[in-house]
Amino acid sequence: MLRELARERIDILFDLATKVYRYNRDLARRYVILALKIAMRARIRMPRHIRWRYCKKCFSPLTPGINAVVRIKPKGEGYVIIHCLDCGHLFRIPIKRKESEK
Ligand SMILES: [Zn+2]
Repeated sequence: MLRELARERIDILFDLATKVYRYNRDLARRYVILALKIAMRARIRMPRHIRWRYCKKCFSPLTPGINAVVRIKPKGEGYVIIHCLDCGHLFRIPIKRKESEK
C-alpha cells in the first residue's frame, strides 16, 4: 500500500537525517523536509515516534543531548517540551500516558 511505503520511506529519511546531521546540517534538513512532503502527499500523519524528532521551525532532525533538550512534564500533563538548540524554538508534543511509559 502506498501509505505503508510512505511510512517506510519516512523512517529511512529520518534515520539518514539523524546520521548526516553531524556532517551536513543542510542536507539533514533537506531529508526532513522530504519526509514531510512524502507524508503530505500520502496524506498520513507523521508516525508518533517521529513527531518530536524534528524542529517545526528550522526542520533540523533533533537528537536529545546533541541539538535538542527534551523535558517531560512530570505531573502527567500529557506533553513533553522540546527545545531546539539550532534555532531556539520551543514546542510541545502531546503524549499519551500509556505509550509513553515504555
Ligand atoms: Zn529549530
